[in-house]
This record gives sequence, structure tokens and C-alpha cells, in this order.
Amino acid sequence: RRDALSLTARGLVKGFGGVRALRSADLAVPAGTIHAVVGPNGSGKTTLLNTITGYVRADDGTVRLGGRAMVRRSPDRMARAGVGRTFQTPRLLPELSALDNVLLGAYARERSPAVVIAAGLPPARREAAALAAEAMAYLRFVGLGDVAGQQAGALPHGKQRLLEIGRALMARPSLLLLDEPAAGLSMTELDALGRLLREIRADGVTVVLIEHHIELVAEVADAVTVLHEGATLLSAPPATALTDDRVLDVYLGR
Ligand code: ADP
Repeated sequence: RRDALSLTARGLVKGFGGVRALRSADLAVPAGTIHAVVGPNGSGKTTLLNTITGYVRADDGTVRLGGRAMVRRSPDRMARAGVGRTFQTPRLLPELSALDNVLLGAYARERSPAVVIAAGLPPARREAAALAAEAMAYLRFVGLGDVAGQQAGALPHGKQRLLEIGRALMARPSLLLLDEPAAGLSMTELDALGRLLREIRADGVTVVLIEHHIELVAEVADAVTVLHEGATLLSAPPATALTDDRVLDVYLGR
């Protein structure tokens, strides 16, 4: 087990030219929980993840990780602080094998040439062999042990998403942010994802996921934050959040 980290974002604001992607977004995630972020298209969910992780610079607002204020956030600094993430469109190295893609996730934690050397080469060096074994374990953990040698780019979309999770885990994050992990997954893969998320939580990782798949949210999330037009509408346990009149209004456009 590792030390899961809490995450608190307060009053995040982000404008793109005339578009206010975030007006005032709040997010409070206790350590060791699964937290879903939901909301209609364009409500600011991805921008929220991007401002938290420093992929996009926020105009205002604060982010605390494990109680520590994270100022001047960059993807690199956030990764070193223990934050892993995946993207709406998987960002893999398509020519490399599934195993090597996971292996390269170790670079976020070790920054050692051994990580790069290990990828694509026979495990000649002890260090490289240890990394490859660890990568294989994560690949199995996400249910992809049988496609280890296949090119990442040739895998079906659902498997690429699971592969991205494996790569993020290889960095041994304390907080994992997932952007629509269920998109494009088959029913079987969806079941597996639900189990996987609970195992990740049990392993001491705080999980935040943007998710449209309401059944998955209801099944795994400890709490849900609903975004609407760039602001937090409410945060509550799924049973409350997903049946709230204001939330139904937003989704159904009543
Ligand atoms: P969601 O993830 O909930 O669909 P987004 O965070 O992707 O919402 O987008 C929120 C709003 O910000 C949308 O109106 C979107 O078009 C706009 N937006 C997001 N990223 C950019 C960008 N890089 N440049 C301009 N507008 C953007």
C-alpha cells in the first residue's frame, strides 16, 4: 500500500479568449476515495483536470495535494508530487509494444536512462529486467497480460485506455486522474474497469474520474461532483447527486 493523497481545488477559473471554461470550480477529494466528476459536454470537466495538473494554467484558484498548496503547477511537477493521469484520447507510443508503453511510465518516477534503455531491448541489465517484470505485473493488473508484445497502436480503443491506466500506475501515483476511462469499452471491459478501480483504491491510490457512464459512477464512486457551465453545482454521494433535481435539470435541459 502507498499513501493516498487528498486533493482540494478551490475557485478554479479559466478563460480561453472569450470562453469561460471554468467560472468557479471546486473539488474536494478525501485521500483513498474514488471521486467522479460529471456534467454535460462543455461544462469544464477536462479543463478542471488540466488546470489541476498544470497542463493548462489557471487564471485563479488554488490546488492542494495532501494539504500542501501546489503553486506554479506543471505536468512535470505534479507527476513528481505523485499525480498520474490519463487522457480522453489515449496518448501512447503506437509503434512500441504494450509492455514497453507501461514500462516507460516508470520514467515519471525514476527519470533514469535505465527506463528508456529497458524499453525495446532484451532485458540484458538487471535493472532493466526488474523494470520489465514490474511493467508486466501492471499489464496483467489491467487485464492486458496476453497482449504484452503487441504494438500499442494496433490494440482496440478500449484496450488502449486500459493500457494508459497501466502506464500511469507504473509511475506509482498517490492520486490518479482519469478522463473518461469507460469510453469505448465493451461490457466485459467495463466490468473489469469497475473492479480495477476498486483495486486501485484498495492499493492506496486516490482516484478522480471524469465519467459519462452513470452506472459505473453509481457503482464505484464514493462521491460525485457535478459541473455545470464551469462551476460546481454540487458534491454528494452518487445516490444523492445522481437523483438531485438540479442535476436532472442540467442533464435534461429542463
Ligand atoms: P468538458 O470536458 O466538460 O466537455 P471542457 O473542459 O473540454 O468541457 O470545455 C469547456 C469549455 O471550454 C468548452 O466550451 C470548450 O469549447 C472550451 N475549451 C476547452 N479547451 C479549450 C481550448 N484549449 N481553447 C479554447 N476553448 C477551449
